[in-house]
Amino acid sequence: MTSGPRSGSSSADLRCPLCCNADFHDRPGGWRECTHCEAAFDRSAIVDPDGARRALWAHAQGALLPSGIVLNPVAKRNLDFATTRVGNRSANVTLAAIARPTEVESFLKATAPIAEFFAERLIVVDAESTAAAPPSAVRVLARPLAGDFAAQRNFLMDAAHSDWVLQLDTDESLTPDNARQALALAERAKAQKLRALGLPRRNFVDGVLASLYPDIQYRLLRSDVRFSGVVHERPVVAFENTALGLSCPIDHALSRDRVRERSAQYAAMAADGERLQDEAALLEPMPERWMAFL
Ligand SMILES: [Zn+2]
Repeated sequence: MTSGPRSGSSSADLRCPLCCNADFHDRPGGWRECTHCEAAFDRSAIVDPDGARRALWAHAQGALLPSGIVLNPVAKRNLDFATTRVGNRSANVTLAAIARPTEVESFLKATAPIAEFFAERLIVVDAESTAAAPPSAVRVLARPLAGDFAAQRNFLMDAAHSDWVLQLDTDESLTPDNARQALALAERAKAQKLRALGLPRRNFVDGVLASLYPDIQYRLLRSDVRFSGVVHERPVVAFENTALGLSCPIDHALSRDRVRERSAQYAAMAADGERLQDEAALLEPMPERWMAFL
C-alpha cells in the first residue's frame, strides 16, 4: 500500500518532515520524494526538517508553501490528515482484535482506558467455542484461526455492526487522545469517501522507541473492506481510496528477543529482504533528533 518499492536514498539521518519516513525516491535536480507520504523536498528543505515541518503545518492553515516543498494531491491529503484535530463530530467505530484465548483478559484490560471511544470491543479467539462472559459493550467470538490471518480479520469485519473498524493486535494499544483522534480521522475519511487509513506505528522494543517508523499499518477501515494474504495479510483497497492517518499512532510493545526470533524466521525463509531491513530498524533506537516529529 506504500507508493512503491524502496529505492533512492535511505538514511537514519534524513527523514521526511511530514511523516518521519527515512526512505526517499531520488528525483531530478536533487529533489527527494518521500516513499510514504509523497511530499517532495529540495535540498534546502531536507536539511532543515524543522523549518520544513513548520512550513507544512502553516500551509495546512492557509499559508503559501516555500519553493523547496512540493505536494502532489496524495501528499496534500496526507498533510490534511496529519494536521486534522479532533472536532465535535465522532464516527461509529468498532475496536476489533484477533486473540488467543489466553490473551483476551489482558487485551480487555489494556484497552479499558479507551473503551468509551468505541461502539464496542470485538474479539475473535482462535478456538472452537468460548465460554467467556465478557462485560457489556464487548463481544468475544470464537473461530479457529487455522493459520489464515486474512480470513480471521474478515470474520471480524463481517461481525462488526459499525461503519468503521479499527483492528489492533493484542500487543498494540492507543493512548486515549489517539483513540479520540481515530474517531475524528474516520469521520474525515468518510466525508472524503475514503475506505482505509494507514496509521503509523510506534514500536517500543523493551520500552525503547525504535527507529522503524512510521511502519504504516492499514487498520482503520470501512467495515465493508476485506483482507487478502494468508500470513502478511493486507486490506484490498485501491490506493486512491486511502490516506495516511499520521495524527493517530498505534503503540506496539515487543521485546528484543521476539525481534531476533522473527529475524531468524525471515532469514530461514531467505525471501524477504525488506522485512529483514525492518527488523534491523526495530533494534535501533529512534535518534533523539526526530522524537518531536512522531
Ligand atoms: Zn513522508
